[in-house]
Parts: sequence; C-alpha cells; structure tokens
Amino acid sequence: MHVKVLGSAAGGGFPQWNCGCRNCASVRTGSFPGKARTQAQIAVSGDGRLWFLLGASPDLRSQIEVSPELHPRDGVRKSPIAGVVVSSGDLDHVLGLLLLRELQPLRIYATPSIRRILCEDNDMFAMLNRVSGQALWTDIVPATPFSLVGADGNGCGLKCETLPLPSRYPAYVGDHRAAGLAPCEALQGTIIEDKSGKRLAYLPAVPQVGDDLLEQLESIDLLFFDGTFWSDDELIRIQGGGQTARQMGHIAVSSAQGSLHRLAELRRPRKVFFHINNTNPMLDESSDQYRQIQAAGWQLAEDGWNIQL
Ligand SMILES: [Zn+2]
Repeated sequence: MHVKVLGSAAGGGFPQWNCGCRNCASVRTGSFPGKARTQAQIAVSGDGRLWFLLGASPDLRSQIEVSPELHPRDGVRKSPIAGVVVSSGDLDHVLGLLLLRELQPLRIYATPSIRRILCEDNDMFAMLNRVSGQALWTDIVPATPFSLVGADGNGCGLKCETLPLPSRYPAYVGDHRAAGLAPCEALQGTIIEDKSGKRLAYLPAVPQVGDDLLEQLESIDLLFFDGTFWSDDELIRIQGGGQTARQMGHIAVSSAQGSLHRLAELRRPRKVFFHINNTNPMLDESSDQYRQIQAAGWQLAEDGWNIQL
C-alpha cells in the first residue's frame, strides 16, 4: 500500500490565520523548532496509480499540486484520484469536496446520514452532481467491509472498513436534524487493507479509547491517531475560554486517560499522531512533550510523508 500524508494539522492548519499563540507566532518569525503543517489529509493507493482520499481538506488544491503522483495524466481532465472516503461531517474533513467539483467522475463513500447532511441540507454540494456520472455517492454501512473502486468500477486492490465511534454531529447540524440521524453514522474510524493484508487505521478524531477499539488496533500496521490536543483544557488555557478537548470530541494525548497511556500496550502498529492542533506543545521539537511522545514510540505526522506499507 502507498500512503501519502498531504496534511497533518487539525482544522485551521499550523499556523492558523487568526492565532497568535506561542507556536503560531514563532512559526511566523521563522524561529519555531518544528514544522508548519496544512490541514489533515491522507491519500492511499494499492498500485501507485489510482488513489483514494481519506477525507477532503480545505487545503486539498495546494496539497495535490505539491504531490506529483496525484497530478492528471493520460489526458486532459484525468486525475488519478478515483474517490473519497468521508468519515465525518466536520468542515475540515468535507470542505475539500467542493474543490473537486470540476466534473471529475468520483466515488464518494459516506454514511447515509453524512450524505443527507451534505446533499440535502447544504445546496452548494449539488455542484458535485451537476451532470450524471459526476459524483457517485455510495453508502458506508458501519463495520461492513467494501472494496474501494472509482466511479467506473475500477479499483487498486484496497479494501475499506469503518468503525463507528461514539460522537455527535458537527455544530452546523441543528439539534432537530441531528435527532433524526443515526448516532452511529456521525463518526467513523477508517481501516484500509491491501491485498497482502497490511492494514492502515485512520483515526483523526477519537472521543475515547474503549477496550473494543484497542482490540481492533491490535491488527493494525500503521496507525494515524488523533493528536489534536496535548491536554484536555489546552484551548481554555491558551484562549481564556472555549471547550475542553473531550467536549470537542478528542481524547487528549497526555494524562491518565489520555492516548499515550491508553495505547501504551499497543505493540504492533507504527504509531503516528495526526490531526495536530496548532496549540499543541508537542509540535515544538525542543519541548518535553515532544521528547515524551518519542520516548513512548510515537511519531508526529508530517506533510509530504510517503510511506510504503
Ligand atoms: Zn496557534
């Protein structure tokens, strides 16, 4: 399996346009001991020719331009991007779909609830279905494996399975609408498997790590895991108000209930923190927090990584 990390930051990117936190400010002065990052985006391929996107970030256009393997070839208007797996309705995960509206045939996998939110409640998404054969929306049934294939039915040898995670619908979905949607369709963890049985898990938002999820992760070779916040009250301390990480649907990295501790016994996968918020102190490669995650066997995902599984 070919895995390309196009972006590794949480929503807003790093630095974030309106943020003057210590991290963002020092990136702008060129003195930050770490790397800037665009918004979370991964692409996968089984053969190196046909690619599938995991989510569609608002930075997708520039992310594609710096990735030669995703450039059009074999003719005009022929992108090697065959489809998108949508695992939540979060804006930083779906806004990029609107950037793919130029009549490229695409398969878009999403749960029926996410498809209804996007296509029935948000008229702009009709731009993805201006002509027949443009976007082929295909239902994800949680926990049911399926082959990844483009709109023309061709695949590249990858299978996908999603795990429903306990979460709620994004804030732009009204309470009345959310009450009519299936709770198990709000957020999926995504597992991609190639023909040789190598498995990637893509989990940019994990509200909590239950024993069942831990068990699933024992079979994973490459884990991209929610690295949004270091601590539960990170945003409140830095901004002077707001929500906790848990309220925003993210398990923190640190603390007794945090992901470092909860996933410490997980031996098989290569463990990579992904979807990292600009406020997270572990972005600073001279920090204690960065040393802690390294000592625990974790890496921080970086834009531009190419991984061969
Ligand atoms: Zn910041």
